[in-house]
Amino acid sequence: MLSWCRLRVDELPVPEAVKEVLRRSGIVELYPPQEKAFGMGVLEGRNLVMVTPTASGKTLVAEVCALKHVLELGGKVVYLTPLRALASEKYETFLKYADLEKPGGGRVKVAISTGDYDSSDPWLEAYDIIVLTNEKMDSLLRHGAKWIDDVTLVVADEVHLIGTDRGPTLEVVLARLRQVRPDVQIIALSATVSNAEDIADWLDAELVKSEWRPVELKEGVYLRGRVVFGDGSTWELRRVHRRPEVNIALNTVSEGGQALVFVESRRRAESMAREISRPLSAMLTDEDRAALEEVAREVLEASERTRLSEELASLISRGAAFHHAGLGGAHRKIVEDRFREGLIKVLTATPTLAAGVNLPARVVVVSSYRRYEPGYGMYPISVLEYKQMAGRGGRPQYDEVGYAILLAKTEDEMDFLMEHYILGRPERIYSRLASEAALRSHVLSVVASGFAHTLQGILDFFGKTFYAYYYDVKPLGALIDAVVRFLWREDLVKIEGDYVSATRFGRRVSELYIDPLSAVIIRDCLQRGAEELTDLSLLHLVCHTPDMSPKFRPDRGEYEELLFFVEEHRGEFMTDVPSEIMNRIAFEEFLSEVKTAMVLKAWIEETPENDLLEKFGVQPGDRYRATSNAEWLLYAVGELAKVLGFKQYVPLADRLRLRVKHGIREELIPLASIKGVGRVRARLLYRAGYKTLTDLKRASLRDLIRVPSIGPRLALAIKEQVGGLVSKEELEEFRRMAEKFEQRSLSEYYEE
Ligand code: ADP
Repeated sequence: MLSWCRLRVDELPVPEAVKEVLRRSGIVELYPPQEKAFGMGVLEGRNLVMVTPTASGKTLVAEVCALKHVLELGGKVVYLTPLRALASEKYETFLKYADLEKPGGGRVKVAISTGDYDSSDPWLEAYDIIVLTNEKMDSLLRHGAKWIDDVTLVVADEVHLIGTDRGPTLEVVLARLRQVRPDVQIIALSATVSNAEDIADWLDAELVKSEWRPVELKEGVYLRGRVVFGDGSTWELRRVHRRPEVNIALNTVSEGGQALVFVESRRRAESMAREISRPLSAMLTDEDRAALEEVAREVLEASERTRLSEELASLISRGAAFHHAGLGGAHRKIVEDRFREGLIKVLTATPTLAAGVNLPARVVVVSSYRRYEPGYGMYPISVLEYKQMAGRGGRPQYDEVGYAILLAKTEDEMDFLMEHYILGRPERIYSRLASEAALRSHVLSVVASGFAHTLQGILDFFGKTFYAYYYDVKPLGALIDAVVRFLWREDLVKIEGDYVSATRFGRRVSELYIDPLSAVIIRDCLQRGAEELTDLSLLHLVCHTPDMSPKFRPDRGEYEELLFFVEEHRGEFMTDVPSEIMNRIAFEEFLSEVKTAMVLKAWIEETPENDLLEKFGVQPGDRYRATSNAEWLLYAVGELAKVLGFKQYVPLADRLRLRVKHGIREELIPLASIKGVGRVRARLLYRAGYKTLTDLKRASLRDLIRVPSIGPRLALAIKEQVGGLVSKEELEEFRRMAEKFEQRSLSEYYEE
């Protein structure tokens, strides 16, 4: 170890208080890539692209730089991430600096904002370090948030996302921020980009690219009981199970490690965890077993019980768990936290995990390098995707070496995997901006927020994107032309001579952060109306827009019922019902929209989460995404109805939005709006005779805890929110009780 020659934290040109926080976290010497980054002038304002493996200290470079801006330069920092869960993680990271004193007085203030796209969040003005998702930043720019003028440093995390369909937003956001603040410093971070040079050139940045990792990673291929690694070394496994994944996982746990098994589907994640859990259970200590029972209980209590949560709880009590997008946020968080603590020994996961939270394990198994692509059949995954998964191998501070293992069935396959994945380089990333859907939204926002007023101005703006840097802006010209024509035809923009400007409708669409095509569909449907306007009319309308996702595809067994439903409710739809014979594809699409609307309808009729799973096959994670999106689109319907002069729809859209948000019938709207209550408790309160906020205002704390599932802490929270008289004695008694009775309150993250 050559650690004696490494740069020390003490030597960094940053305030002593920052160094003190770092030292307290055990950070004394810098990792080699950090040394490089600081050596390249990142603390002197140089832009930086840092492409180094997970846990090699990228975030720390951004942290130190952020504090330099806040404490020495009087600046303001924005930290961008692609996911809400990652934003929460980074927010926590920055909170450790929240006690530091600023030279002008006051302490460093850290904020996070990821929701509500129809706001300029003026409250953020008072904060120094602001963690946002890329989409939230985009929406803030559209709202012309004033405080953006004060931003001096922007950190873009997971910058390789530029190569995905959500990449255009990040490209446009960075281009806009650089336009608004030409001297803003930019730091872009990623674990895997093979053409990092291109990103660095685009951003006029220094590049730090390194394979250095705090824990060495050995990548290898498993064949018949043996793993051969890229460096030629081998691992002979004890044969304790016939299935390779299970065998590797059990061998890992018996040597004191944890295993993370990536599989290709949700169903497989569940079945694999089940298969591992049986033999794994026998390997647990009594102490682990007791702690795991507790975690299993936590899972069952965290939200409404479903077959999925019961299965998860039962697996956890045996030391295994699965992680996929069908799980609700509360459950994903429990699984992540308990795996990180080392309690859960083996985790099976779909690849979405690799792109999200930081969750390393000693051994990573990539169970299948093939993935089913609709329309193509089985396809090998990209090297980039493999490297993202493999990069999770090795827990700093716990493991000396991490392992990533692919599975082969034959020698030939082994050679292929070794050549292609282990020795291979990740693919280059390409901009996805040149699509009509992406440009529709971004061209409108550029015009609506006054960043460009002519076709040439729009083209100049897009000339600053990664796309234009990489390919040239010219090919975008024809597409932008077509998009502007669409926006003009649909009355979202006006064109007078050379001058392009947004109409009132167009401006509102841009602020509402929906696809202009969704807005046009909403407008046309509101104009046309329905023979019989019902809840279903608007629920189907939002499911008919391209912004609605996920849409639930019916399976064969549901067909008959859906056809019957369509016939029965024909007069309620605001769109034509496509002909099953003449337009099969549109008809199939329509049935998906109808099924999704049926799920939303069941949800607002208080159908339990488990019935949605059993009847429609909709898992809680998907239900959450669908209802959050529908809630947003219903809000947009109400707002657009106001702008377009269809005020008759506004009360229905408002009511439905609240019902979709909470999953409740109309009469519960006031009760469910109380924080901490939720739909189940709102219904229990209602049944107990508390039907309005006034009823609750009149109730005493003692009355409230007679209602099932209302504990002293929640009773206090309810009274705090609705008001009403509470005697001093009662208040004190309840405060004492609340301290005694541990009542879990789920954080906002859990609700995500
Ligand atoms: P990345 O962003 O590359 O994933 P982080 O900056 O989050 O990496 O660092 C990973 C972990 O290593 C964090 O817990 C961080 O505090 C710690 N760490 C970072 N730099 C150092 C260092 N120089 N010495 C010791 N620990 C460090």
